Amino acid sequence: MTVSGLPPYDDNNIFARILRKEIPCKPVYEDEWALAFHDIAPQAPVHVLVIPKGKYCSFADFSDAASAEEIAGFVRAVGTVARMLGLEAPGYRLLANMGNDGGQEVPHLHVHLFGGRSLGRMIPDRA
Ligand code: AMP
Repeated sequence: MTVSGLPPYDDNNIFARILRKEIPCKPVYEDEWALAFHDIAPQAPVHVLVIPKGKYCSFADFSDAASAEEIAGFVRAVGTVARMLGLEAPGYRLLANMGNDGGQEVPHLHVHLFGGRSLGRMIPDRA
C-alpha cells in the first residue's frame, strides 16, 4: 500500500498510458512536470484534467513522495492552464477525487478543472 492507503501505482492506468503516448489525448498544456488535456466525457463547457508526470495515485501519496520541484511544477501548471483558458475572471472549479469514497476512477493523481458556466453548489446531495 502507498502512504495514502491506496494500492501501489498501476503502470497500466489510462493516464499512465496517455503520458507514454500509447493512447491519444486532446492536449491543452504540457511541461516538464505536468500534462493537461480535455476530459473525454466533459461535464462542463470547459473540463480539463491536469496530471503530474510522476507516478502518484493520490494527493497524500504526491505530497509525501514528490520532490518540491514536482509539487511546485504541478501546482503552477494548474494555474497556468486556468489562465490560458481565460478562467481567472469568470471563475472556475478545481476538483480532485481520491479513492473509493471520492469516486476516483483513474488511479493517477489528477485535478479536474471545470468552467465555462456557473457551476452551482459544490456538493448537491447531503448525506
Ligand atoms: P476520476 O473519477 O476523478 O478518476 O476521473 C477520471 C476522469 O477521466 C473522468 O472524468 C473520465 O471522463 C476521464 N477519462 C477517462 N479516460 C479518459 C481519456 N482516455 N481521455 C480523457 N479523459 C479520460
